[in-house]
Amino acid sequence: MTDSPLVVVEGLRKVYRTGPKEVAALRDVSFSVLPGELVAVRGRSGSGKTTLLNQIGGLDRPDAGRVVVAGHEVTTLSEDALLALRRDVVGFVFQSFGLIPVLSAAENVGVPMRLLRTPSAEREERVRMLLALVGLEQHANQRPYELSGGQRQRVAIARSLANRPRLLVADEPTGQLDSQTGRQIMELLRALVRSEGVTALVATHDPSLIMLADRVLEISDGIVHEAALT
Ligand code: ADP
Ligand code: MG
Repeated sequence: MTDSPLVVVEGLRKVYRTGPKEVAALRDVSFSVLPGELVAVRGRSGSGKTTLLNQIGGLDRPDAGRVVVAGHEVTTLSEDALLALRRDVVGFVFQSFGLIPVLSAAENVGVPMRLLRTPSAEREERVRMLLALVGLEQHANQRPYELSGGQRQRVAIARSLANRPRLLVADEPTGQLDSQTGRQIMELLRALVRSEGVTALVATHDPSLIMLADRVLEISDGIVHEAALT
């Protein structure tokens, strides 16, 4: 039996209008992602990577086309349903980590579970497990400013997995890290996709990180092509 795709993107189109100018950030993009795949989205700055991930994760709405994630027709969801999708189905990792500065590493990881009203004993146990998973069990009580960039991104990754998302969306997760730290983060993502059974879409323009992906989608001027793995 073949798995049905976890993500289906069909005829996606997004045009930004700023005054009289129009920029077609996505033009007729179609592809699908199978459960358990780690797919890299590779393209230069301005090629449309963020726009694509934002439509898939329900952070923005396209002008045409559809996105289905784990059976949810993202493109037609109400605002409330989009909130629920972003809380329950999709985990996000951003280039700038997006941690809450006044909260410790453990508290940051616990935020999505608080939103779901997970009982505190269960939440604390899962926070411990997640921090161990990303190698930060010794840093649970440190705040983001007391952590290195790579450690901050590990906290963000642990947080993104808190509610057991089906899909992890990572937008240039290594963009603010030196190349060695970036590589460790990509290796962590690679390992987590295997161990947690999550599916991941990772935007990057770092060629040295692409080799860890199962598939590469090349995006150029809003057009997506399947690329050979090199
Ligand atoms: P990438 O993430 O690959 O760098 P983006 O998806 O951010 O690319 O951008 C794709 C194109 O859309 C670029 O030409 C960018 O300038 C344009 N763009 C992105 N966001 C906006 C916006 N909010 N308003 C106007 N143009 C935008
Ligand atoms: Mg971007």
